[in-house]
Amino acid sequence: EEDVFEYKKSLAIRTSGFDVPTPVKTFEDCGFSSQLMAAIKKQDYQKPTPIQCAALPIVLSGRDIIGIAKTGSGKTAAFVLPMIVHIMDQPELQKEEGPIGVICAPTRELAHQIYLESKKFAKSHGIRVSAVYGGMSKLDQFKELKAGCEIVVATPGRLIDMLKMKALTMQRATYLVLDEADRMFDLGFEPQIRSIVGQIRPDRQTLLFSATMPRKVEKLAREILSDPIRVTVGEVG
Ligand code: ADP
Ligand code: MG
Repeated sequence: EEDVFEYKKSLAIRTSGFDVPTPVKTFEDCGFSSQLMAAIKKQDYQKPTPIQCAALPIVLSGRDIIGIAKTGSGKTAAFVLPMIVHIMDQPELQKEEGPIGVICAPTRELAHQIYLESKKFAKSHGIRVSAVYGGMSKLDQFKELKAGCEIVVATPGRLIDMLKMKALTMQRATYLVLDEADRMFDLGFEPQIRSIVGQIRPDRQTLLFSATMPRKVEKLAREILSDPIRVTVGEVG
């Protein structure tokens, strides 16, 4: 069963799944802390983009999500903002025990962009973000991870290297984001993704974002997400 919300004349937000929370219209509707609202204002984000309107209440309610929307639609904040809330909701920040939020992206450029966006919102909450991708010394990376963090933004290959080196453990990880899943598959990262997912507790919250949903990505989503809600943003029609 599918619900369609008209965002504006030419754009529709389609959702499917059971008990789908109603999309929000404003950031104020999300119940964010005053620090987070201040950080959003500082970015000059006036109102949520369509994918954010639909995804924010879904992810904030703890549900798994498949988010399908084209590049430039604001997917990063759709998973970063609820991740900050998720981390702040943990009973105690037990430092030195590995990340709570794990984000995988296909390339170092994309991972770096997500790292910067995460830092903007994490900073005011004392949440530490580590970037894990090629182009940086493995030893420096190892040391940084050993010092502890709450969020890791990574490319799959380098994250596997760091896990093998025991630079971090996934014991605390409860929020997993696979961003640009279709591109990660195109780049041959399926085995690494499966390995990473296999190291994170099954009762985690899992978010999968993709511009397209090829059959292989669909299959992975069926295997690793629990009762996901699917959100598609696109033209009316
Ligand atoms: P995607 O991951 O869907 O390709 P991004 O998350 O990279 O898109 O966002 C694209 C651009 O839109 C970025 O420059 C980001 O800062 C900006 N952006 C995101 N959300 C909003 C918003 N609510 N209002 C204004 N700009 C936004
Ligand atoms: Mg993106």
